Amino acid sequence: MIILAVLFSCSQEPSDYVLFDYYELFKSEAEARGVKIPSFDLVMVFVDYEPKGYSGYCDCTNETKLIRINKDAFDYAVSRELDEVFIFHELGHCVLNKEHGKGIMSKNILRDYEERRKEYLDELFKL
Ligand SMILES: [Zn+2]
Repeated sequence: MIILAVLFSCSQEPSDYVLFDYYELFKSEAEARGVKIPSFDLVMVFVDYEPKGYSGYCDCTNETKLIRINKDAFDYAVSRELDEVFIFHELGHCVLNKEHGKGIMSKNILRDYEERRKEYLDELFKL
């Protein structure tokens, strides 16, 4: 079962639900490439502060996987595609069990993501 709790510390903004949309998009991009996402418990939350300035962080050590997305970094990202990169990066760790590497799993900002999105997604979902 997948639990998507989108929490925000002091205010509730409609944009908080945006994390759920990205997860749905991740799933459909996976399925479009023949990758079935297994069933598991996942919580994705926005946080106001992330130690070390990470844009996102995932804790996959417990049965319920937890992804924290830095609200500041998310608001700062200049386009929907760039938000997608760091959410998909964390999902790559937590859901696909990927280590750091090339493309979306790289630690660098992908400045050409918008032009090469399909190529990067093909690479991400190659198991
Ligand atoms: Zn990472």
